[in-house]
Amino acid sequence: MAAIVCKEITKRYGNHQVVHKFDLSVRENEFVVFLGPSGCGKSTILRMLAGLEEISDGELTIAGKVVNDLPPRDRDIAMVFQNYALYPHMTVFDNIAFGLKRLKVAKAEIARRVRDVASMLGLETYLERKPAALSGGQQQRVAIARAMIKTPAVFLFDEPLSNLDAKLRNHMRVEIARLHQSLKTTTVYVTHDQLEAMTLADRIVLLKDGRIEQLGTPKEIYENP
Ligand code: ADP
Ligand code: ADP
Repeated sequence: MAAIVCKEITKRYGNHQVVHKFDLSVRENEFVVFLGPSGCGKSTILRMLAGLEEISDGELTIAGKVVNDLPPRDRDIAMVFQNYALYPHMTVFDNIAFGLKRLKVAKAEIARRVRDVASMLGLETYLERKPAALSGGQQQRVAIARAMIKTPAVFLFDEPLSNLDAKLRNHMRVEIARLHQSLKTTTVYVTHDQLEAMTLADRIVLLKDGRIEQLGTPKEIYENP
C-alpha cells in the first residue's frame, strides 16, 4: 500500500492557481524530496499534506485514510519546520514530550520514550534546558525528536536545514540520512538545495510553477537534465 496518494491536488489562492493537478504516490519507507526554486509550490503542497493549508480540489490519502477534511492532529504525520517552531517557555524534555502528553500516554512511558529519542539525537544532556539556550543545530534536533516520538506513518520536513550554517547543515544532512536508514519512516522533504535532494532522496519531485517538471531517482534526474 502507498503511504501517500495525491490525486489531482490543486491549490488556488483566490483566482491564482499555484498547484495544478498534482499527482504523486509515495511508497512506504520511501524518502521523497520536493525540489525547485522559490515560489514553485513546494511548501504549499507540503502544508496541504500536513493539513495546515486547505486543498482546493483533489483527494489526499495518507496511511490508507482520505484526510482532506482532517486537521493536522488527526493525520498520521509529524512535521519539522524550518524555524523549528519549539515552545520557548518549555524545557527540551517538555517540547519533545508534547505530542505524547496530549495522547494521554502514561508518564513513565513518556519519560522512557523521550530519553530514547533524545539519545538517538545526542540530546540527553540538554533535556532540562529551554530552547533559547541551545544552538540552531540542537534546536533542530529537538524539533526532529518531537516529530519522531509520535512514531507517525509519515515525516514532513520543510527546509529543515536552511537556517543552519554550512558545516552544521552537512552534519545534520548526514544525521537525517542515518535516521531514515534506521527508522525507515516514509518521508517527504522540501528543499531548494540540490545536494540535499541528491544525497537524501529515493526519488526527487522537481517542481516548476506548481507542476511536476521531472520525477525520478537522483540518478535519473541528473542524467537527463
Ligand atoms: P515554495 O515553497 O516552492 O517557495 P510556495 O508553496 O511557498 O513556494 O508558493 C507557491 C506560490 O503560491 C507562490 O507563487 C506564492 O506566492 C503563492 N502563495 C503562497 N502562499 C500564499 C498565500 N497565503 N496567499 C497567496 N499566495 C500564496
Ligand atoms: P497540536 O494540536 O499539538 O498543535 P498540530 O498537529 O496541530 O498539533 O501541530 C503540530 C506542531 O506544529 C505543533 O507543535 C504546532 O504548534 C506546530 N505548528 C502548527 N502550525 C504551525 C505553523 N504554521 N508554523 C509553525 N508551527 C506550526
